[in-house]
Amino acid sequence: MSEKNTGYLAQFYKKSQTERIQALIQAGFLEKEKQDAFDDQLAISLDIANGMIENQIATYQLPFGIATNFLIDGKDYVIPMAIEEPSVIAAASSAAKLVAQYGGFQTAVTDRLMIGQVILTDVPHLSEAIAILHDNEIEIIQAANQAHPSIVKRGGGADGIRIREIAEDLTVGSPSFLIIHLHVETLEAMGANIINTMMEAIIPMLENLTNGNALMGILSNYATECLATATCRLPVSALAKDNWSGVEVRDRLILAAQVATVDPYRAVTHNKGIMNGIDAIVLASGNDWRAIEAGAHAYASRSGQYRSLSSWRKADNGDLIGELTLPLSIGTVGGSISFHPGAQMAHHLLGNPDAETLEAIIASVGLAQNFSALRALVTEGIQQGHMGLHARSLAISAGASREEIDQVATQLKTVKNMNLATAKEILKNIQKK
Ligand code: NDP
Repeated sequence: MSEKNTGYLAQFYKKSQTERIQALIQAGFLEKEKQDAFDDQLAISLDIANGMIENQIATYQLPFGIATNFLIDGKDYVIPMAIEEPSVIAAASSAAKLVAQYGGFQTAVTDRLMIGQVILTDVPHLSEAIAILHDNEIEIIQAANQAHPSIVKRGGGADGIRIREIAEDLTVGSPSFLIIHLHVETLEAMGANIINTMMEAIIPMLENLTNGNALMGILSNYATECLATATCRLPVSALAKDNWSGVEVRDRLILAAQVATVDPYRAVTHNKGIMNGIDAIVLASGNDWRAIEAGAHAYASRSGQYRSLSSWRKADNGDLIGELTLPLSIGTVGGSISFHPGAQMAHHLLGNPDAETLEAIIASVGLAQNFSALRALVTEGIQQGHMGLHARSLAISAGASREEIDQVATQLKTVKNMNLATAKEILKNIQKK
């Protein structure tokens, strides 16, 4: 399944669910034999659910949709997204469509090194301990690798240490900490379990070497050694919208990104928009979205102030250039990825990318989402686009049946105050007829 015929995906949003699945097959993103998985709504069985968490009593579903039009590093993709919020998939698809016309997204990823920490307290002679740790780096790495030999056999494993000293802070009454980072190549896995095993295994050795006491040994979700960057470039001629010229949209969009760089109140919402797309694909692909969220927001604060994760600037020739970098400690194996039918389908629809490629795809989705939100905000505002889908959500909340949803939503869009009470009233009138 390499050649894609994306023409079959045109007007995807207008198709029925069955037609969308057929279009994905025709376009070459879904193998025909895999379509049966949709009969069960990609659901997990109660037995599996019971094995996944404690005290399980049911399963909780989310819509699983597809963002179209993504051209990333010269390859066509459809993006599986698990999300409850309207507009996100439409916004991603429309930004991706525009970007694809001008070369698509370009990406770069760093080595996939995850970080584990052992935190030591009561180290009597800090500088001496640091020197001893450096002298024993190879032995520490060996001890870590012996605790998880299978990752070494696969070609990965621990490959370096970093030592950090955090001085005592009397304002909060904390002593000094000696923190040892282990950098681990976890290959296709996110690596939480691999690293946690390694960190606990090296604790006795680190205590012996330093005469300190270990407080804990655990993965850090601040994956600064596992970064993904996506960029895109658009000419001003592509940016005009409604009564706004391309130059105006470009300049206003750059200003909007600057506000998000200097004002944390704006930055949080700006980054939330980016995470709308990122969380949806991270969740669909069976990855740990809490880890990605925590890491992304820490990265946004790396200067000491919470700032925008993305940047937008004017190129020498006047084009608009967007760039997004964030830590993406995702995996293509491990956790629930190998058995959750939704996660398996997501990886299949993406063409079973390796972890580096999945990072590149996720970063591109975040940048697409950011572009759509910013362009809408600096032109007509986001409510206009949102209200259509919001009207459908209100119709569903009011109790409209499948056949009634469109009727209620259409009438709702014509009223001044779109709310649940009005939706219920409209539905009542429709049902009276
Ligand atoms: P798992 O332990 O589930 O799976 C990783 C295992 O997959 C590896 O140890 C390896 O086992 C096997 N594997 C098979 N093929 C490959 C390959 N090509 N590359 C790498 N490994 C391969 O997952 P992780 O260690 O990645 O942990 C992720 C899970 O941990 C997530 O579910 C997350 O929610 C959870 N978690 C997260 C925490 C956090 O973020 N702070 C804390 C604790 C848990 P083998 O070589 O033995 O076959």
